[in-house]
Amino acid sequence: MRLAVLKERRAGESRVAATPETVKKLKAMGLGVAVEAGAGLASGIPDAEYAAAGAEMAADAASALQGAEIVFAVRAPEAPLPKGVLLIGTLGADAAAASAYAAAGVEACSMELLPRITRAQSMDVLSSQANLAGYRAVIEAAEAFDRGFPMLMTAAGTIPAANAFIMGAGVAGLQAIATARRLGGRVSATDVRPAAKEEIKSLGASFVGYEDEESKAAQTAGGYAKQLSAEFYAKQAEVVAAHIAKQDVVICTALVQGRKAPTLVTAEMVASMKPGSVIVDIAADAGGNCAATVPGEMIVTPNGVKVLGFTNWPGRIPAAASALYARNLLTFLTTFWDKEAKAPKLPPEDDIVAGVTLTRGGAVVHKNFAA
Ligand code: NAD
Repeated sequence: MRLAVLKERRAGESRVAATPETVKKLKAMGLGVAVEAGAGLASGIPDAEYAAAGAEMAADAASALQGAEIVFAVRAPEAPLPKGVLLIGTLGADAAAASAYAAAGVEACSMELLPRITRAQSMDVLSSQANLAGYRAVIEAAEAFDRGFPMLMTAAGTIPAANAFIMGAGVAGLQAIATARRLGGRVSATDVRPAAKEEIKSLGASFVGYEDEESKAAQTAGGYAKQLSAEFYAKQAEVVAAHIAKQDVVICTALVQGRKAPTLVTAEMVASMKPGSVIVDIAADAGGNCAATVPGEMIVTPNGVKVLGFTNWPGRIPAAASALYARNLLTFLTTFWDKEAKAPKLPPEDDIVAGVTLTRGGAVVHKNFAA
C-alpha cells in the first residue's frame, strides 16, 4: 500500500505532514511512501533526508499520487485525488467540501474534528499546534516590543518588567503564560471557563476576569468555551478594560468552537494603550479577538500600538510544528492499523473515527454535515 505526502500549496503554509522520522516508521509498517519533491523545504527538510529515510521522491503531485491509497496532508490538497483514497489532514471542510469529497469517492478524515478525549491526546493536532502558536506569539511579541520582558537593573537605571496579559487560557494561552513568565514578564490572564482560573494561577500568573452564574457553566462537555450572552461579554469587557490600559503586551487566544472568535479588545481599549504596546492576535484565523486586527498583517494604530494579526501561527515555527503534526498523523494511522492486512482499519463506531470521518463509501457521514 502506498502513502503520498504532497507539497502544501495553500498561501503561507510552511508545514508538511510527514518528516523523515515518521517516514521511517510508516515504512516499517509496510507502507511505500512517496513524497513530492520540495515538500519539506519550508520546514527545513531537504528532499535528501526523506530519500535517506526510505521515501520515494516524486517530481510532482500527480506522480506522488499515482497508485496512492492514503494521503497525508496539512491542509486540503488542491490536486485531484485518486478515487477511494484515504485523505487525512486538517481539511477545514464545510458541507459543500464534504459533499465534493463524497462525490469524488475520497474517504476524508479531518483531524481538527478529533474529540478532545484522553485516548486521542497523542493525535490531537489542535493541541500540538496551539501549544507552539502560544509560544511563538510571545516570542514575536517580545521582538515587536521596543523595551523588553524582564526587569533590567543596570548601573544606568532600571527598566521595568513588561506587563503581559493573556486572553484565553486554553492550550495556546497556557503556553503563552509559561513563555511570558520565562522571559521575565509580569503576567496576568483571563478566561471564561471556571477550570482555567486554577490553571492560570498554577503557572504563576494572576487571574483577571468576570465571573457569574453564567460563566460557572461556560464549559461544554467537550471542554470548550460556550458562546455566552451579550450581557456577559459587556461585563467581562468592563473588568478587562481598565486592566488592558496598563498592559505592554496583550496575547489574544480566545476561541469559541465553530464560531467567529469573540471580540474582547475593543477599539476603545486599543486607544487606551500606551504607544509601543503590542497586541498579538493568534485568533486572527477565526476573525480575531481584537477590533483592530487585520488578519494576515501587522498594523500600527494611530496611538502607536502594534497589532500582529498574522494567520497560521504554527506555520511561523514550521520545523517544530511539522514534527509534532507528522507524529499526530502517524499515531492516528498506527492506532487504526491492521498489522496483518498492512492496511488501515477504521471502525465507524469508534469515538475517534466517528469524530473525524467526513465521508465513507461515497457518502457524507459526519454528523456536522450529513444531510
Ligand atoms: P480553544 O482554542 O477553543 O479556546 C481557547 C481558549 O479561549 C479557551 O480556554 C476558552 O475557554 C477561551 N475563551 C473563549 N471565550 C473566551 C472569552 N470570552 N474570554 C476569555 N477566554 C475565552 O480551546 P483549547 O485550547 O482547544 O482548549 C479547550 C479545552 O479543551 C481546555 O479545557 C483544554 O484543557 C481541553 N483540552 C483537552 C484535551 C484532551 O483531553 N485530549 C486536549 C486539548 C485540550
